[in-house]
Amino acid sequence: MTILRPLTAFVLAIGGVGAMTDAQTPQAPPAPPRLVVMLVVDQMRADYISLYGHQWTKGLRRLLDTGAVFPLAAYPYAYTVTCPGHATISTGTFPNTHGMIGNEWYDRELGKSVVCTDDASQTSVSFGGRSVVEHHSVARLNALTFTDELRIHAVRQPTVVAVSLKARSAITMAGTPSPTTYAVWEAGNGTWTTSTAYTSTPWPVVDAFATKHPISEDYGHAWTRALPPASYLFSDSGVAEIAPAEFPHKLESKTGKPDSDYGVLWRRSPLADRYVGRLSQHLARELKLGQSAGTDVLAVSFSALDIVGHEYGPHSHEVQDVLVRLDETLGELLDTLDTLVGRDRYVLGMSSDHGVAQIPEQDQNVVPGSGRHSSTALRNAISAAIETHVGPGGPWTAGSPVTSRLGPNVYLAPGVLARVLSTAGAREAINTSLVAIEGVARIYWADELGSLVATDDPILRAARLSYMPGRSGDMMLIFDPQWMAQSTGTTHGTPYLFDQRVPLIFAGAGIKPGRHLASATPADLAPTLAHLVGLTMGQATGRVLVEALR
Ligand SMILES: [Zn+2]
Repeated sequence: MTILRPLTAFVLAIGGVGAMTDAQTPQAPPAPPRLVVMLVVDQMRADYISLYGHQWTKGLRRLLDTGAVFPLAAYPYAYTVTCPGHATISTGTFPNTHGMIGNEWYDRELGKSVVCTDDASQTSVSFGGRSVVEHHSVARLNALTFTDELRIHAVRQPTVVAVSLKARSAITMAGTPSPTTYAVWEAGNGTWTTSTAYTSTPWPVVDAFATKHPISEDYGHAWTRALPPASYLFSDSGVAEIAPAEFPHKLESKTGKPDSDYGVLWRRSPLADRYVGRLSQHLARELKLGQSAGTDVLAVSFSALDIVGHEYGPHSHEVQDVLVRLDETLGELLDTLDTLVGRDRYVLGMSSDHGVAQIPEQDQNVVPGSGRHSSTALRNAISAAIETHVGPGGPWTAGSPVTSRLGPNVYLAPGVLARVLSTAGAREAINTSLVAIEGVARIYWADELGSLVATDDPILRAARLSYMPGRSGDMMLIFDPQWMAQSTGTTHGTPYLFDQRVPLIFAGAGIKPGRHLASATPADLAPTLAHLVGLTMGQATGRVLVEALR
């Protein structure tokens, strides 16, 4: 095969020259799209398309029917959560390169946990006459984003708009600040905000929308099912959903006012996605995205599915209804872009940052033995195993050899790792005692995670792609499928396909409709969009999905 390949290329080249002579002149390359749209739907499992796709008639339906769809796309890494997912989509690299290994990690220099966008040197710039104090920037992202490549190479500086409920989603998509970059998110208290990293004063264009549309305007709304109840699969009010499990969900609070309890309900409803969609349309219109030569970027991340999915699980009527309403919200957004930019003048890439597990109590027939860990018991078990096997009086002072456990990352007190690795048999004995705990699958140590020696252990390969020395833990502790360290609802963050598989769809300018069963990852999204605007993602590990191109 490798011997034949150059010959085949030669024959094709000869054929190409002949074809060009027949046509007299070579075809001019198509004009690059005026607008690149990146859509991320937080916590959207790939199988939602096959399970619930028949319920969609608008935006999601249009993407499926007119797009290039990669049904087998999956993240190849282990710690499948929001910040790593968005950073992978925007940079075309994995956490071992872009450095966003989790939503948070333990910063050994600062001696405390940090979120992936923490930057003490920045503060908030808020909109709508409200205020909040946060400290966010993109400084901890170690790879160039699609928008960065565009800024570096474009003749006209692109206008970049990134909108989400979550700071980590908007910021990782927006990339490096510039005078024409607008990253906007909701601070969790009803305040729409950005960071001094992007601007020192509130942008009037965002301020006007936030002032006219405070989230309190939805107070009293009743969230009902958009379709007749019989159109939904499975039963409403499944086992272990949070209360109240039944529709309608009234967006009201005990105080009778739009207080913080109301904010929780609002974010956990399709109204949050609708707001993000309408704010995005407003900014596209007012900032004239895609209206002049060159390429602009609109990045929108919808978070309601994640917030609802954690509480109600992937089989709930609530999850299905968030998707039905997102279908409407996306339909509105696409209609607006058709009018503003022209249907054939923008290209769109859509994916998700991770999937989600079933609610363990609902899943006993599918994965017998699925269940929940107590975080405290788990941490105590790790401490006890280390103390037992490296002997008393180890190099820890505050009583525990474990400093922190964040997702799979276990951070040990200074000196503990070296002591374990230098004590004959200690590592193996600790591993044996921890994997004996029901629901614990694997333990990996920093030297195994950082090693370049090939392995046939697929979970170790995935864990290595989530590992960055200095940021990641001294150990990684991987659960069995459908096990989680939380007491209610469900979550994600594992190296299993229910968390790794997500939609990957392209549509619009330069895209050929079709379904492609080739393996693909969300790291292919940025390189493919970059190719369509004539750019190369220099650092990307993802590939250009040539199957999707016209
Ligand atoms: Zn989540």
